[in-house]
Amino acid sequence: MLRAMASHADVAIIGGGPAGSAAAILLARAGRRVVLCEKEAFPRFKIGESLLPHSLDLFDKLGVREELARHAFPKAGGEIATACGRRTQRFYFEGAMQLSHRSAYQVERAWFDKMLLDRAAADGVEVRQPCAVTGITFDETGATLATGGGEIRASYVLDCSGRNAVVGSQFDLKRSYDHLQKFSVFAHYEGVQRDEGRDGTLTRLVRGKRSWFWLIPIDARRTSIGVVMDIADFRAARVSPQAALENEIAAAPVMHSRMAAAERITEVHAVGDYSYRNTRMHGQRWLLAGDAAGFIDPIFSTGVFLALHSAEQAAGTLDFALRHPLLGRLRMASYARDLNRQMNRYLRFVTSWYTDEFVDVFTAANPPLQIPQAVNSVLGGNIHPNFSVWWRLQLFYLVLWVQKRHALVPRLDDMKAESAPEAATTA
Ligand SMILES: Cc1cc2nc3c(=O)[nH]c(=O)nc-3n(C[C@H](O)[C@H](O)[C@H](O)COP(=O)(O)OP(=O)(O)OC[C@H]3O[C@@H](n4cnc5c(N)ncnc54)[C@H](O)[C@@H]3O)c2cc1C
Repeated sequence: MLRAMASHADVAIIGGGPAGSAAAILLARAGRRVVLCEKEAFPRFKIGESLLPHSLDLFDKLGVREELARHAFPKAGGEIATACGRRTQRFYFEGAMQLSHRSAYQVERAWFDKMLLDRAAADGVEVRQPCAVTGITFDETGATLATGGGEIRASYVLDCSGRNAVVGSQFDLKRSYDHLQKFSVFAHYEGVQRDEGRDGTLTRLVRGKRSWFWLIPIDARRTSIGVVMDIADFRAARVSPQAALENEIAAAPVMHSRMAAAERITEVHAVGDYSYRNTRMHGQRWLLAGDAAGFIDPIFSTGVFLALHSAEQAAGTLDFALRHPLLGRLRMASYARDLNRQMNRYLRFVTSWYTDEFVDVFTAANPPLQIPQAVNSVLGGNIHPNFSVWWRLQLFYLVLWVQKRHALVPRLDDMKAESAPEAATTA
């Protein structure tokens, strides 16, 4: 419901996704007056369903852990397979090094996002929805946000508007990564073949030569299926997103066989605005969090994790800035440094994922020195790895470097030779 005019808020938050709601809850609980504008009516379809174990502590803090345990689907880990089906590597959070939680959740985002936003409203956040922020003017003492329902005045703006990146777009801060220009097309299905027991909860990544798929079980019946490819490949194919999805599934034996009896139950959705980052994360009266700060290709389910983590840090930063106006900018700069560091860590993984050697090494049998357990730890959301995780990560990257030059384990090309002829284009 729209109201005509807000009184002065401490913080105005743009966007009611996971980042916006989490930050709003934490700020409201710190006694701050918070207005949150969300442009869409919830529930609405959203992609990004696979969560990480490290977010569980924040779910406890937000008071939503029990609700997740009741409604969300458990997740024991992940699996990486080649599209031809010859190589598979499973990893369970149970076996990860230095990870405080041994499982995570898969969620239907329509439910999850609404649940968090409802919690924010219950905690005293003034939620305006549907309410799109159309522009912001900043001055010495705060900001004025223009919305369809009138203006909002606040001391600080926290931009959690996701890939819309309202503040980043206004100040032209958004920069894409040339090497990660991807296109993704996805939908929900029923009847996708699953494994028994805990293996039926895994996030599956099926890696082809020029594209890869995810299979995420979001409840006992429904599975989120998507494919990611170079945007140039999608354009060159000159087909609709739906045809691209269907063609890719048909060409990948693992997908084809798991989906033989599957039925699509949602529209097909597509996203083309892939990995980017803002050149600045803060200004005198504003701060960015979640995808509004940057979006690293979420192959390893890091999107919601980074959104929640940055939201928690951003809420602490703004609360500090409101208490200590003179020191606020220093704390914001430190927030931005930390967030850039986390994004760099996952960017390195993502960049590696798109190399052949990553899959060569990751799917190799019996890797030594507990390297997968260390990689698994960081992929579980461990952003402060101790020394024993750190040196194994460095070794992992060294092995990738060597693999590129001298085959330590059989290469993807060997896998292609092993695979059925129809798999050759995708595996
Ligand atoms: C293809 C794909 C697959 C993904 N898979 C995963 C996954 O498996 N696991 C994972 O963790 N992450 C995944 N992600 C990433 C994940 O979806 C995002 O990282 C996450 O949703 C970010 O949360 P957020 O709160 O920052 O932004 P969002 O969830 O995008 O929320 C932003 C909100 O702001 C609102 N908004 C936008 N503009 C305005 C405006 N002007 N005024 C008011 N409101 C506005 C939007 O309506 C939206 O509700 C995936 C992303 C893509 C594209």
